[in-house]
Amino acid sequence: MNYRYSVIAVVILGLLTIAGCSNWLGKVNIFPVEQDVALGQQVSSSFESGTAAVVLDSSKNTVLYNYIYGIRDSILKTNLLVHKNDFPWKVRIIKNDTIQNAFCTPGGYIYVYTGLMKYLESEDQLAGVMGHEMAHAEKRHSTDALTREFGANLLLELIFGTSKAQLLQVATGLAQLSFGREAETEADNCSVDWLYQTSYNPVGAAGFFEKMQKEKNQVNIPEFLSTHPDPGNRVANMKKRWSEKGAKVGQTYTERYKKMLTYLR
Ligand SMILES: [Zn+2]
Repeated sequence: MNYRYSVIAVVILGLLTIAGCSNWLGKVNIFPVEQDVALGQQVSSSFESGTAAVVLDSSKNTVLYNYIYGIRDSILKTNLLVHKNDFPWKVRIIKNDTIQNAFCTPGGYIYVYTGLMKYLESEDQLAGVMGHEMAHAEKRHSTDALTREFGANLLLELIFGTSKAQLLQVATGLAQLSFGREAETEADNCSVDWLYQTSYNPVGAAGFFEKMQKEKNQVNIPEFLSTHPDPGNRVANMKKRWSEKGAKVGQTYTERYKKMLTYLR
């Protein structure tokens, strides 16, 4: 093969690689996957330096952090995540009891609010919600949504640190990012599939939805309970998936969850 053909082959191979990044909807995510971590890093440091976020100090709250790392590691140990070793999967707890939320940046920087931890009743529920959020990073929904909102060029500029003001804007918008119906369903499915390979009750996330519905808690609707699809349908979908997989019954770890909460003051 002469030089000219080698170049053509490399170009075609490159195009195929880009096409290989197409997500499950068949659309091509033009944002390169290697940049997810760089973007996540920029966005997370901007978020943490902003006034909106008070991050619990991990060196002073080792019990809480070890607990939450344990949940994350159980999910990663399933080996079901393609980006298990590509992303840092860093977890940070945000001290704010009024917000019952959790979210994940591109590249796997996970944020959990103390308000959510206190609202939940058992470890499987927190594991279910974390699985759901981690799925948004793993399946690159976060990158898709940010690209839709801000454009790939701006995001690439942010990685190279050219616009601090816009970076802060992107970071602030992160917690309110809305994903499509298909992305939410996919994240719910991942949560069930991943937890199924751990000792947790695989439908932990569903338990949380049911609690929210029962209490008609409409005040702080978090991302994972966003308007669509209907939460009732999501519970039904998760239970159906669980039942099709064999309806394995897992642990809720309610007692040790309550014990962990005593460290959260
Ligand atoms: Zn979600």
